[in-house]
Amino acid sequence: MTKISIAPDDRVFVLTGAGISAESGLPTFRASDGLWAGHSIEDVCTPEAWKRNPALVWEFYSGRRSDGAKAEPNPAHVALAELEARLGERFFLCTQNVDDLHERAGSVRLVHMHGELTKARCERECGRPPVEDRKVYKSLDEVGRCACGGRLRPHIVFFGEIPLEMERIQDEIQKATLMVVVGTSGSVYPAANFVHWARQRGARTVYVGPEAPLNASAFTHVVEGKAGEVLPGLFAV
Ligand code: NAD
Repeated sequence: MTKISIAPDDRVFVLTGAGISAESGLPTFRASDGLWAGHSIEDVCTPEAWKRNPALVWEFYSGRRSDGAKAEPNPAHVALAELEARLGERFFLCTQNVDDLHERAGSVRLVHMHGELTKARCERECGRPPVEDRKVYKSLDEVGRCACGGRLRPHIVFFGEIPLEMERIQDEIQKATLMVVVGTSGSVYPAANFVHWARQRGARTVYVGPEAPLNASAFTHVVEGKAGEVLPGLFAV
């Protein structure tokens, strides 16, 4: 079995995608022909969709909240939390996922570049921070308003919007000597470029997933397999 050695001076940057939560029962896009839980992205996951039909967008994300609350972290989430516990500040996790399975497994040094299902924020981008919101809405009338009067929208980066925390992410990639990418198809940008940025800095780059991603040629190792089966035995620290 492949082992990735982590030396005392290594700094590890991990990027995860929908594939890491697949074994927890949360579907990826790829698994369903580019649909997310039966919906096309254009209908539920774009600024235009929000303007056109906020009720449908909230209905969709309410469904994702219900599914997310029922799901449990799998051995892949746990393996990354355990790696963080050993490496401390030499570890950083960036997830494209909007579920909270990484934090529930114990990860702390992480950012959600595409937002979080368990939060909402003002649709007017008025500057107030996101608020905790785990409600499953049955109609738009139940959705609260911000102090400025704007309607609350899911704290999700819709397709076409700028991902969150990019400065911190770029800074961590600059410092990393090892990048590990798990369960992402390599088709959503800018995340699909992270491996190129890391390679330019001379880092080793490892991909873990059941099939090679679209950007496979940028990896120094591709470990084919399910995240929950590969990650628990992958690292030699
Ligand atoms: P994607 O659906 O495009 O690709 C999923 C990838 O996971 C594929 O490459 C597939 O081979 C791989 N995969 C499937 N099962 C796996 C397993 N058991 N172990 C490891 N890998 C596995 O997903 P993406 O590249 O992350 O891009 C999709 C976007 O969709 C992201 O922005 C994300 O926010 C959003 N999304 C999030 C969730 C979630 O939060 N759980 C779920 C679906 C989509």
